[in-house]
Amino acid sequence: MADKLKDRVCLVTGASRGIGQAIALAFAREGGVVYGTATTDAGAEQIADTFRSEGLGGHGRVLDVRDSGSIGELIESIGGESGPPLVLVNNAGITRDNIMLRMKEDEWEELMEVNLTSMFRVAKAALRGMMKARFGRIVNISSVVGATGNPGQANYAATKAGIIGFTKALAREVAPRGITVNAIAPGLIKTDMTGVLTDEQRSQLLSHIPLNRLGEPADIAHTAVFLAGDTGDYITGQTLHVNGGMYMS
Ligand code: NAP
Repeated sequence: MADKLKDRVCLVTGASRGIGQAIALAFAREGGVVYGTATTDAGAEQIADTFRSEGLGGHGRVLDVRDSGSIGELIESIGGESGPPLVLVNNAGITRDNIMLRMKEDEWEELMEVNLTSMFRVAKAALRGMMKARFGRIVNISSVVGATGNPGQANYAATKAGIIGFTKALAREVAPRGITVNAIAPGLIKTDMTGVLTDEQRSQLLSHIPLNRLGEPADIAHTAVFLAGDTGDYITGQTLHVNGGMYMS
C-alpha cells in the first residue's frame, strides 16, 4: 500500500544526492508532499526533475543550513504553498576529516554548524507548525561513528554523537504535543561521501560488516519511512542503527 505518508508535507534537507535523495523519493512514493533541498539552484532544479522523471509530485528548494534567515523563509514559503511541514528529516551533513593534531579550528566549527547547529535551527523553525498541529515527525541523521568513534573524525563524531543527545532531549520536550523525534545512525552507505574511500579502506571496513556489504541509500530510506509513517507512532527518542551489524548497540 503506497500511502504511508499520504498528503503529509515533508521537508528533507540535503536531498540532491545520496541518502537524502533516497529518503525524499521514498517519501514521495508513499504519497507525501515532499520538499527536498540542495545548496544551489541547479541542485534544486535537479531534485524537481528527479521527482518528475519518476512520475512523482515533489519540489526542489535551495537551502544552505548555515543561513538561519533562509531556513525561516523556506519553512514559511512551504507553509504558504502546501501547509507547514509536519515531517522533517534533518539529513544535510558533511565531513572534514583530519587527524586531531592537524585539525584546524575552522574544520571543527564548520562541522558543528553544518551537521549539528543546523538540526537546532531547522527543527526550531519547523516545530511551530508541528506544535499547532499537535503532530510531527522529526528524523535526524546521525552516524555509527557517533557511537563508535573513528580516527580522523573527531569533529564529525562529535557532531553525530551530539545529534543523539539532541534527539533525546527534544523528544522528551515535545512528546506531549504528539511530536516524535528520532535519529537514524547509518553505517557505511554507498554515496558521494564514502566514494572517496580507497579500495583498501573499503575492503578493510567491509571486514567489520557482518552482512558483508555496504549499505544502499534505500536501506536508510526504508527506516525513515518506518519512523515517519504511522508505523513509528509509538517510537520516540530512539536511535535506529542501520549498519549491517557493523556496530551492535
Ligand atoms: P552526500 O551524498 O555527500 O550528500 C550530502 C547532502 O547534504 C547533499 O544534498 C548536499 O547538498 C547537502 N549539504 C551539504 N552541505 C550543506 C549545507 N551547508 N546546507 C544544506 N545542505 C548541505 O552525503 P550522504 O552520504 O548522503 O550523507 C547524508 C547524511 O547521512 C549526512 O548527514 C551524513 O553525515 C550521514 N551519514 C552518511 C553515511 C554514509 O556512509 N554515506 C554514514 C553515516 C551517516 P549539495 O548537493 O547542494 O552539496
